[in-house]
Amino acid sequence: MDRARVVVIGGGIAGVSVAYHLAKAGWREVLLLEKGELTSGSTHHAAGLVTQFNPSPTMMRFRRYSIELYRELDVFANVGSVRIASSAESLIELQRAVSRAAGIGLDAELISPAEVLERLPGAEPASIHGGVWLAGDGHVDPHIATHALADAARSLGAEIRLRTRVSGIELGPRREVRAVLTDAGAIETECVVNAAGIWAPQVAAMVGAFIPSVPVDHQHVAMAAVSGHEVAHDAPCFRDPDNLVYGKGESGGMLIGGYEADPTARWSDGVPWEHGSSPVESDMDRFAPLLEGAIRRFPFLEDAGVIRLLCHPDAMTPDGNPLMGPMPGVPGFWVAAGLSLNGFGAAGGMGATLVEWMTDGSSETDLDSYRAWRFGQLYRDSVLAAEAAREVYRYYYRLRYPLDSAQAARGRRLSALHLRLEEGGAVFAAKNGWERADYFEPGRPWRRAGEDQRRFGWNAPPYLERLREEHTAFRERAGIIDLSSFGKIDVSGPGALALLERVCDNRIERPVGSVVYTQFLNARGGIVADLTVTRLGEESFRVVTGAGAIDSDLGWLRLAQRETDAPVALRDETAEHAVIGIWGPAARRILAAVSASDVSAEAIPYRSARSIDIGGAAVLAQRITFVGELGYELYVEPEWAMQVWDRLIAAGRPHGIRAGGYRALESLRIEKGYRYFGSDLTAADTPDEGGVGFCVARGKAGFIGEEALRAATPRKRLRTLLVGDGPEYRCLYGGEAVRLDGEVVGRVRSCAYAFTLGRNVALATVPPALDDDAPLRVEVLGEPVPAQLAADVLYDPGNARLLA
Ligand SMILES: Cc1cc2nc3c(=O)[nH]c(=O)nc-3n(C[C@H](O)[C@H](O)[C@H](O)COP(=O)(O)OP(=O)(O)OC[C@H]3O[C@@H](n4cnc5c(N)ncnc54)[C@H](O)[C@@H]3O)c2cc1C
Repeated sequence: MDRARVVVIGGGIAGVSVAYHLAKAGWREVLLLEKGELTSGSTHHAAGLVTQFNPSPTMMRFRRYSIELYRELDVFANVGSVRIASSAESLIELQRAVSRAAGIGLDAELISPAEVLERLPGAEPASIHGGVWLAGDGHVDPHIATHALADAARSLGAEIRLRTRVSGIELGPRREVRAVLTDAGAIETECVVNAAGIWAPQVAAMVGAFIPSVPVDHQHVAMAAVSGHEVAHDAPCFRDPDNLVYGKGESGGMLIGGYEADPTARWSDGVPWEHGSSPVESDMDRFAPLLEGAIRRFPFLEDAGVIRLLCHPDAMTPDGNPLMGPMPGVPGFWVAAGLSLNGFGAAGGMGATLVEWMTDGSSETDLDSYRAWRFGQLYRDSVLAAEAAREVYRYYYRLRYPLDSAQAARGRRLSALHLRLEEGGAVFAAKNGWERADYFEPGRPWRRAGEDQRRFGWNAPPYLERLREEHTAFRERAGIIDLSSFGKIDVSGPGALALLERVCDNRIERPVGSVVYTQFLNARGGIVADLTVTRLGEESFRVVTGAGAIDSDLGWLRLAQRETDAPVALRDETAEHAVIGIWGPAARRILAAVSASDVSAEAIPYRSARSIDIGGAAVLAQRITFVGELGYELYVEPEWAMQVWDRLIAAGRPHGIRAGGYRALESLRIEKGYRYFGSDLTAADTPDEGGVGFCVARGKAGFIGEEALRAATPRKRLRTLLVGDGPEYRCLYGGEAVRLDGEVVGRVRSCAYAFTLGRNVALATVPPALDDDAPLRVEVLGEPVPAQLAADVLYDPGNARLLA
């Protein structure tokens, strides 16, 4: 039998990049298999534009690296690019994006309408509000770039075998990769990278794994040159999101592509294996609105003949982020797919980072939202996955305001309390399929939020007073909230404690009934999960995490399991427990009024859990808080949840209890300095940098990341900032640059209006030794607003209230 150390499946830009970086990192016997010729999938049809601009810091890093790589290979035309704001709203979005870019060190320059016209002389001046100039952007020829990278891989020893289709993957007794089966025989190997583009879900299915990506059509048109308006090959690329189009010069004319409002997903039953580099049927009716947008911006295109409209799908994931990393439960199986039109920008950095992960066991880059295993059961519904992928596509250019909610995949998971939330006038937003109350409009019919911010734009939300009322109830009386969407993982068995001790930075070996706040770290000491662990028995634990993190965290636990471990059962038990949060000074009195059990401070001390009875329902009362007040998370079987809720509301009425939503949690937690995983805490932050160093158990040894932490010195620190001089509401959304004397020194991670303080509060990473009096400025919608460093915890720093 043939043998390889690693088999890469797919000869598109992703696979070729992985093969190149494997060979470069010194891997021997690297074999890439491609069923057709190189570039036989989406890569064949790319327009070739590459920009560094992206809202995600990780993607910006990938893109910056990819451009460096294409430059090294001498396949990059560095012509720069202009992103045009064709509306006042978009100009503000561009200002925000430039500030975000500055926050992570990318050079993006805001330019005036006149400067836009200087760079794009054929553009129609009307409705140009400004733009962004990205000097480092440009384009590649997709074929030349892919072949150049393939040649570079070959010259480092990698083998590329064409016209060889992978038809199966053989697994061993531990479900580990053993061999790749092809139409030309089997190849023995212990490592496979699935870089099969739109076919990647089918290749994953060969090992029983699930990854969702949906082939969504993308179209671009080659327009002939117009005499007197020839566009040079080295003219800058342009992007005009309001008109939904992008373009570049090609053969004197222009290549124009764009993002349709109602895109087509295809091949829901799987992509035909025989499909190769041929395009699919294009549709001028669908493209016409984009062409009109292009003509609005470049009127001379009216006279340009259409040479060819081209259509081909790319692999869109339900959140628009690529799929990267190992597949839990299938040792040796890795993924580099779901590029979601990030194509050439992503592929270089993705390949380098994946190989870093494969070689060293972790990566320095924050890959939390790219993990290949992050999508769970919900996305196995191909209709839902397609709906979500199409929505991501639709908003590729269409302005999506930060406070807007997803519209696809709604109404899928309803908590047992949903009816009560509806009756309370909830405005629902969705998270991992769950409908959750964002806030309440009492007296009004419930509704699902969507493009809500589009109505009020870059201003204070009209429901600010509602948020204040909910916030104040938690602080002054009692607030109640449905937290049923919390992810819950049952970790049980003789090996449960040892596994949790290995993955958690905090100590888990504590008496039964303890609740521990902890992080999971990667081998470099970066934070990859932030959650609580409750010890329910000697060998039984419940991990409680965010609604969106459940599959990610469950997979992380699986990856940490070792062959030699004592048996551990890991089970997603999210749906088995509804969760009610009740917090505020009156919380204990209300709980005592509905339960015959002892709920005193002695019976349920802070950070402990105890079974109590509420009207015959067995409830686990867990004394812990994300709002900084006395109170409980109550875990109850869903069928009992409504009556427990009703009893709490009835008993709470004399105390002025009020239901709150997830938006109130934001303002409550931020003034208490509580961190949010994904924005405040990421894999790029150690616990000390993120301000959760207190969780790292003193003297604890043997947990993942321990060695790295011992050697680490903080490179930055998450600090609390008061933004603005007074109580005036500021439109902060996260990502904004923090400047000192004009220089960017940090970036806002998360923010909220803190109603108790009457101030705008931001959590921002800044240099560790920054002077407390440093005259900082935060860029708010283009305006440098003064900001002061403040104490980490602004509300009740001594915890007197929650320990009451
Ligand atoms: C019309 C269009 C325009 C685009 N424009 C741009 C752009 O301007 N800039 C940009 O950066 N990106 C662009 N993109 C996106 C970019 O092209 C894709 O994201 C990228 O090429 C995907 O690369 P890939 O390697 O993941 O997949 P693919 O290119 O699809 O490669 C997957 C490969 O795997 C092979 N394969 C699959 N299954 C097997 C198997 N079982 N055995 C062996 N081989 C197998 C296939 O034959 C294929 O060659 C565009 C995409 C489209 C569709």
